[in-house]
Amino acid sequence: MSTPASRPVTAPATALSGPGSPRPYQSYVYAYPHKTAYRPLEDRPALRALWAREPKDALSLYLHIPFCEVRCGFCNLFTRIGAPDELTGRYLDALDRQAVAVREALGDGTPVRFAAAAFGGGTPTFLTAAELERLCDIAEKRMGADLTAVPLSVETSPATATADRLAVLAERGTTRVSIGVQSFVDAEARAAVRPQRRADVEAALGRIREAGIPVLNIDLIYGIDGQTERTWLSSLDAALGWEPEELYLYPLYVRPLTGLGRLGAAGDAAWDEQRLRLYRAGRDHLLARGYEQVSMRMFRRRGAPPSASDDHACQTDGMIGLGCGARSYTSALHYSFDYAVDMGQIRRIIDDFTTTEDFSRAEVGRRVDEDEARRRHLLQSLLQAEGMDVAGYRERFGVVPAGHFSAELERFAARGWLDTAAAPGRLRLSPEGLAHSDALGPELFSPAVRAAMASYELK
Ligand code: SF4
Repeated sequence: MSTPASRPVTAPATALSGPGSPRPYQSYVYAYPHKTAYRPLEDRPALRALWAREPKDALSLYLHIPFCEVRCGFCNLFTRIGAPDELTGRYLDALDRQAVAVREALGDGTPVRFAAAAFGGGTPTFLTAAELERLCDIAEKRMGADLTAVPLSVETSPATATADRLAVLAERGTTRVSIGVQSFVDAEARAAVRPQRRADVEAALGRIREAGIPVLNIDLIYGIDGQTERTWLSSLDAALGWEPEELYLYPLYVRPLTGLGRLGAAGDAAWDEQRLRLYRAGRDHLLARGYEQVSMRMFRRRGAPPSASDDHACQTDGMIGLGCGARSYTSALHYSFDYAVDMGQIRRIIDDFTTTEDFSRAEVGRRVDEDEARRRHLLQSLLQAEGMDVAGYRERFGVVPAGHFSAELERFAARGWLDTAAAPGRLRLSPEGLAHSDALGPELFSPAVRAAMASYELK
């Protein structure tokens, strides 16, 4: 699993941590523009034309598997529960057809090379070991990615991280496994509508370590009903017992149409305060135990091998996404398939995908013009703890960021969100700025993207 996601949630901007400060938990900006700003592309552009002039020598490859054993209460990712009637086999057949069409569209006029690969979801290890072999074959034989030579990240869950699947993944070149644990406290897992037993989680972590995959990432969530600083730190300590190379700490969000959203769980200022308090406690706990902060959510153990992780700031790279929940990025267009959160709608979209024969065109997406490219570049670098290289921005866009975003940057500075001690030439968030990443990010959305997201009818 990859812990979600970025639908703008409950709160309008009102004061929490000082006059003029917006509420801290508005939207997880891991990709800009968000999929809710995508629309059907009337001209259905041919992939061949879209990719004709793009650099293709360092692409990322993402394969999306939209199946899970359960639907966690906080999850708004594109995934369904279970796969009846050999649906996984039909899904892989469609993925194979799509891979053939996409590879053909990339052409051979210029070198095509993949620099990183990831299997996400959903839960890729919902697939059997044999099906995972097939997934790797699609990436290698159809797309031409050399999985044993590039970073390969795979998401998993406690119940599906079985020894036979992990053996396949290790053998095929997986360098990073990310497991969604959320909490080592059984009652908290239940409260997040992710029923699981700690003993099963620990057993899965043992199997992952035995498989010898170099990087282990553990996802944890704070802000769960009933969670205290003591129980939160006990979950962190349980995770630290496995010496994970990476940890992602996610604030809990309650989003429309999710299990928790349907239960009527709602956000308020006290919950914001709880999440901020737990965030700070968790961050300080990890910093004191040899981890460095990479972004608001991501922490890496000092000295751990590098990995191409989800939070990596790839401002310019092309991305090929296969599967019906995956996005693809060219420099001028981001595209995908239809998107939904409601289970019935997701089932319909997956069924449509499995019967699709023609994958040669982009169906749903959003064009990225110069202004959007600047926003994306700024967002994706500023939300990293190391911040932004101002010269790199100027080289790409002609002026320094303040030339395009003076009002926003002045506002961030006035709130104490920018690091005044950053080295010359570096634009970096202060610790408070990082803590408010989910409020700061949405302020950099363009009016057009904001309007498209607001008018999107969630289904
Ligand atoms: S395991 Fe849970 S959080 Fe992860 S994709 Fe599935 S339902 Fe969502």
